[in-house]
Amino acid sequence: MTELQTNPGTTAPAPPRKKYAPAKDPLPGTNYHRLRKTIHVICVVIFITLPLLNIMRFDIPRQRFYFFGAELWINEFGIIFLSLMFCLFLVTAMAMIYGRMYCSYLCPQMIFSEASVTLEDKLKRWVNKRFIDLAVGTRIFISRSFFYAILLVASVFLAFIFISYFVEPRDLVHRLAHLDIKTAGGIAGAVTTLLTLIDFAFLRQRFCTTVCPYGYLQGILADKNTLLIDYRDETKMCIKCLKCVRVCPMGIDIRDSSHQIECTHCGECIDACSTVLGKLGKPTLIDYAWGATGLTVGQENAWYRKLGLRDAKRVIILLLVVLYASALYIAISMRQPVLVRIAPDRTNLYTIDNQHFVHNKFRLQLSNRGHSDTTLNLAIQGLADAHIIGLQLPLTLKPGAVEQQEFEIIADPSKVAPGVNYIHIVPQLSPDQKVEPFAETFIAPMDTPQSTTQQPTESKP
Ligand code: SF4
Ligand code: SF4
Repeated sequence: MTELQTNPGTTAPAPPRKKYAPAKDPLPGTNYHRLRKTIHVICVVIFITLPLLNIMRFDIPRQRFYFFGAELWINEFGIIFLSLMFCLFLVTAMAMIYGRMYCSYLCPQMIFSEASVTLEDKLKRWVNKRFIDLAVGTRIFISRSFFYAILLVASVFLAFIFISYFVEPRDLVHRLAHLDIKTAGGIAGAVTTLLTLIDFAFLRQRFCTTVCPYGYLQGILADKNTLLIDYRDETKMCIKCLKCVRVCPMGIDIRDSSHQIECTHCGECIDACSTVLGKLGKPTLIDYAWGATGLTVGQENAWYRKLGLRDAKRVIILLLVVLYASALYIAISMRQPVLVRIAPDRTNLYTIDNQHFVHNKFRLQLSNRGHSDTTLNLAIQGLADAHIIGLQLPLTLKPGAVEQQEFEIIADPSKVAPGVNYIHIVPQLSPDQKVEPFAETFIAPMDTPQSTTQQPTESKP
């Protein structure tokens, strides 16, 4: 396990609040800044579309978990467990193999922090250029006003998207339109907006090194084979231009150590050093490398070692990810959209009405987890001339609805065996879905004239 350090001489990391700029014209093939920004755009699109298109979100009021097209109900514990385990092992595998690359390439906190810094700098430059005649204090006031106004609108939008992961987005629009700060959803939206505003106005990357648990998790999971940013200068080629320090969004000097907890492995310092030393015909002193080995990705020959599968531990964790992904896929593909449950109610074994018909009571639970109406019919096998009362058949159920009803099977005592009759209740669903018949028992009194074949196993009430 590799021990991560904080900046020498500091107890708390102090990334700059603003003012860093990517290296200009990095060498071809090492433009990690452009790669990261492209991935950021894709991540923002994914971040917004996941809840709005119900691809992945956890609807708390309705107790539903949407996962890549499947609407899982909270009582589908098995599938939800597999989903959570899959996500857990995926995050663990990423941290173990690729270090904090998730932080700088994929994390919304980092993406919006960097966007906020860029916006503030651009606004400042624009105001300085546009209002050059005004006093410095006035220009600062104007640029700050613009910045906070834009940030407020962005915070409302981001809070809306974030809360959409837990509350139906259309419901949220309604609450937002009515400026609801009374209900739980409205209060959650207002608090999230405020926190988002504070976060992206003041905290930004400080969040990554103080609050976020992923950085600490990374410290536990990293070992000698985990990808990191490696600085090596055995031949003393560093010209001390400090370009790598100026471009660092986390405000650290990678030359102090390759194992600083603040380093999010973004690669901006690689761009910087390769640009500066490239102009002098020298190779970069900073590069992505596999932990303590110092081997860069390009120096590996085997494809699986290039991908980071460098020891048995990594192969095992990747196999676990594949295993959970496969189990999840199978569980979701075998999932039935309509759930039918039938169970006998044996409070009374049977009752007999005025016309001497025998009644047995059952309970039906029907859940429509699909996206269209479903219609249920029931048939009885193994009991001559029996029929169902107490249920309006066929029974139609809307998507998302649950129905719980009691019904009775009624039979002529002269046509059933005394005691226990083994029957099947056969559900028929439309649209067609295969449901196994329910093997049940129908209990008739023992003292009927035909009482010759079976002995009852239970007593009369
Ligand atoms: S040291 Fe380099 S890789 Fe690490 S955060 Fe700073 S710029 Fe990014
Ligand atoms: S960018 Fe490269 S050459 Fe310049 S200070 Fe950093 S490591 Fe040294």
